[in-house]
Amino acid sequence: ATADNGAPTIFDKIIAKEIPANIVYEDEKVLAFRDINPQAPVHVLVIPKVRDGLTELGKAEERHKDILGELMYAAKIVAEKEGIADGFRVVINSGPAGCQSVYHLHLHVLGGRQMKWPPG
Ligand code: 5GP
Repeated sequence: ATADNGAPTIFDKIIAKEIPANIVYEDEKVLAFRDINPQAPVHVLVIPKVRDGLTELGKAEERHKDILGELMYAAKIVAEKEGIADGFRVVINSGPAGCQSVYHLHLHVLGGRQMKWPPG
């Protein structure tokens, strides 16, 4: 029971295991699973299991600082598990102009190929 300020998303169903996902890492607070539309050989999404109003990074509040750290550290664990810890990218799309489509904050962990910069 949380005071989320947005509508439920598809990620709630993944957390509840109501729809399948290819889970690569899970702990008490975070879940990491393969993106359904991968943009690189490794493309994993890292999400908080409880959204607690954290729909997008641009709406983060002080109380979210701990979970934001948990997510970042989980991204590193995922990179290690996937064998890309020597070179990878972490992306957060925030808001419409940031191309966010699912309003449950998530980190994209991308790797397994040479990444380009700037991303466009
Ligand atoms: P955003 O555009 O919000 O940063 O990223 C949302 C990501 O979620 C997209 O890369 C999209 O492919 C992924 N996605 C959307 N629906 C599903 C789903 O049902 N399962 C999985 N595994 N990924 C999804």
